[in-house]
Amino acid sequence: MPAAYDPNNIFAKILRGEIPCKKVYEDDHVLAFDDIAPQAPVHVLVIPKGPYVHWDDFSEKASDAELAAFSRAIGAVARARGLGPDGFRVIANNGGNAHQEVPHLHMHVLGGRPLGRMLPGKG
Ligand code: AMP
Repeated sequence: MPAAYDPNNIFAKILRGEIPCKKVYEDDHVLAFDDIAPQAPVHVLVIPKGPYVHWDDFSEKASDAELAAFSRAIGAVARARGLGPDGFRVIANNGGNAHQEVPHLHMHVLGGRPLGRMLPGKG
């Protein structure tokens, strides 16, 4: 069953300029902005401009140009925020088990402090 995109999700509203954001990076296919509730000194969300619900949807339907731009934008954001030398984490929550809250694909780019282990534990 294909994922149904909700055009009223909050990131769609940011893309349409209906809600403000603190922009970090933008190109033809990608927008990146600071997370409103940062979980690390650097916490940027990188989103495709196209209507993709999550990684599953994006990786199936996006063009090669969109896929390449998205991947390069994540690196550009990390470099712009100086995260390379100390390291950083990139996370995409995909669907229910991953607690995805906003149904528009976004990569969390986190850094600026030691981030601990990837998952808190089992279960
Ligand atoms: P996820 O659980 O992976 O769907 O993460 C959604 C993220 O979106 C959370 O980290 C929120 O803090 C963030 N968020 C929600 N609304 C906004 C907003 N208006 N601007 C920036 N970040 C937001």
